[in-house]
Amino acid sequence: MAEAGDGQQRMDAIVTLIASSMSTEVCSIYLRRGDRKLELCATEGLNRDSVHRAFLLVGQGLVGQIASRSEPIKTADAQNTRGFQYIPGTGEEVYMSFLGVPIQRLGEVLGVLVVQNREARHYSEDDVHGLEVVAMLLAEMTELGAFLGEGDAELAGSHVRPYYARGVSAQEGAAEGVVHLHEPRVMLANPVAEDVEEERRRLTEAVEALRGEVDDLLAGDLLGGAGEHRDVLEAYRMFANDKGWLRRMLASVDSGLAAEVAVEREQTAVRARLARIADPYLRERAHDLDDLANKLMRHLAGERGQREVPPGAVLVARNIGPGELLDYGDRLAGVVLEEGAIGSHAAIVARALAIPLVIQVGRLTLEARNGDPILVDGDVGAVHLRPDDTIHGAFREKLDMRAQAMEAWRALRDEPALTLDGQRVGLHMNAGLLTDLPSLEGSGAEGVGLYRTELQFLIRARVPLRSEQAALYDRVLSNARGKRVVFRTLDIGSDKVLPYMKRLEEPNPALGWRAIRISLDRPNILKMQLQSLLRGAAGRSFAVMFPMVAQASEFSQARAMTLEQLERHIRNGWPAPSRLEIGAMLETPSLAFAPDHFFREADFISIGGNDLKQFFFAADRENERVRRRYDAFNASYLSFIRMIVDRCEAHGTPLSYCGEDVGRPLEAMALTAMGVRTLSMRPASIGPVKRLLRSVDLREVRGVIDAGIGRGDVNLRGALAGWARDAGVGDLL
Ligand code: PEP
Ligand code: MG
Repeated sequence: MAEAGDGQQRMDAIVTLIASSMSTEVCSIYLRRGDRKLELCATEGLNRDSVHRAFLLVGQGLVGQIASRSEPIKTADAQNTRGFQYIPGTGEEVYMSFLGVPIQRLGEVLGVLVVQNREARHYSEDDVHGLEVVAMLLAEMTELGAFLGEGDAELAGSHVRPYYARGVSAQEGAAEGVVHLHEPRVMLANPVAEDVEEERRRLTEAVEALRGEVDDLLAGDLLGGAGEHRDVLEAYRMFANDKGWLRRMLASVDSGLAAEVAVEREQTAVRARLARIADPYLRERAHDLDDLANKLMRHLAGERGQREVPPGAVLVARNIGPGELLDYGDRLAGVVLEEGAIGSHAAIVARALAIPLVIQVGRLTLEARNGDPILVDGDVGAVHLRPDDTIHGAFREKLDMRAQAMEAWRALRDEPALTLDGQRVGLHMNAGLLTDLPSLEGSGAEGVGLYRTELQFLIRARVPLRSEQAALYDRVLSNARGKRVVFRTLDIGSDKVLPYMKRLEEPNPALGWRAIRISLDRPNILKMQLQSLLRGAAGRSFAVMFPMVAQASEFSQARAMTLEQLERHIRNGWPAPSRLEIGAMLETPSLAFAPDHFFREADFISIGGNDLKQFFFAADRENERVRRRYDAFNASYLSFIRMIVDRCEAHGTPLSYCGEDVGRPLEAMALTAMGVRTLSMRPASIGPVKRLLRSVDLREVRGVIDAGIGRGDVNLRGALAGWARDAGVGDLL
């Protein structure tokens, strides 16, 4: 295989060599073209005129079945084997026996390698194994472009062509950069073991080092004991010490593969199995084994530590946890995940880092290579890998437009959000990480309307100590320099599972034991948090609010606990906050119908639209199938918001809205027209929202909404967007 020559000559030489050494009359290589087709690219024994002219679809004939199932097929009676179909013109019909194996790499089928004999020959397991090893090498070489000849664009490996994929947008924005794989694929210059003993030594040492690493992870696991997290580490240990795993890899080395290729071979087998496992638990375990193989690869490559993150890096991963994402910090321009969910912690972190995030992009970790140019369009949830010049040009224009708009927003930073009819709207920002806080200055936010305290809990391996919590709250308030900060108490449960908390099996976690329900049932965590807040504030004013309040008594209880802690704090002789506001989030429809005393007791109310909408419409916010059916422009929802505004006004209770909706200008405009006067959103949205609000007369907007509701419109998005265009502010949406 190492011999010189162009791609076709190499392939021709390989099929001749295999046929003679395995004593078969036929040996053929079929390579994948696009998603669906397989092309006969070289043959010994079949009609040579059909090379590059004979095609099969994936799934069609024995060859197509090997490609679709990524499993070998052997038979001594091909014609009578189910699915057999010969390709006319190849002369295949006279061969009785057939053995074919997939040419695959890491779960991706690149082609099929076949041998055939005229008589009924029963191929042995050794024949299958031998052919698989050769196929493995062919896969490596296909990837390296070894079969490319002059001007062979058609035959170009899959990793040089442009690749476009559509996923789901989890954070808007646009980024142009280069791929940085979270788990890199190793490219080998030479997949063949030159010195088998040396390769055995490398592999054995790498496995030893891996076992040590896993033991270290387990020893350093401060949680000691319970949790999913621990399960994963235990699974790693079990796999790392599995004798069969090492034995199979060593056998591959003995048959002539380099250590890395031997590891890959195991990985390929796991991935092929993964595709067929339906059980979610077993799938996760198979994923663990895959992750472990990646770790082993890094040991072989000798790069254990942090890899260099290139400028403009776009992180590409199957999935990533919030902690790992935070480790990359501000070195990333964007993130693309094959899995992931909009409401996931990683999405919240990406939002906090203000970088575009696209999730559910199939196959990207297979298609992408480190350093590949990539464009991420977070607005529509699209990814262009290795884009051609036209796409690149169009994308640059989009980036320029964004930059111009940014300039316009920056110019408004110190201006108030004053509408044409003289209504003053307060614009605050949502935060949850210390890295968010510089945006308080830059964005022109008037304060932090929602500080999600749970992020500090989510990204750690254990409950943060009181001193750590207090130190964080102290820094948040110092950074805010006297601006108002609303700390939301721990909002966990549902999708936000603390790594160190035993995961409860609940039939409907979003409707389950979460947020304030946990805080009231397990008051120690809340008490500790309240004490930390009072301590961190050290006399400065702040606001606290409770998530997911569903009935007035829950708020009263939490408020009483807060006042108790305040008393205790004062009794200890510590400085009392100059002002302490205690508010509630309105995230369940029931709270809007609470008795009057609730509205008098709460110092303020903040609508958590993300949850309120999901409960109002009975549509899971994390379920893409149902989430998109309803939105904040729904007439019933707007009427409901008006009702909440009316109740708050009747009691003089300040009201704000802190769900994601108000981060989009048109939604923000509709909700302020319903009477909400304080909005809290991600910092990047403040500029665009302010710009639109300053250009509209809310009485007119309200007129459009009222007229629509009067007419019986179900949804007012169209009417409002149309009005905005007519009013000449369409470009600000
Ligand atoms: C909300 O539900 O609208 C909200 C702001 O809280 P979270 O998104 O953290 O649930
Ligand atoms: Mg919420």
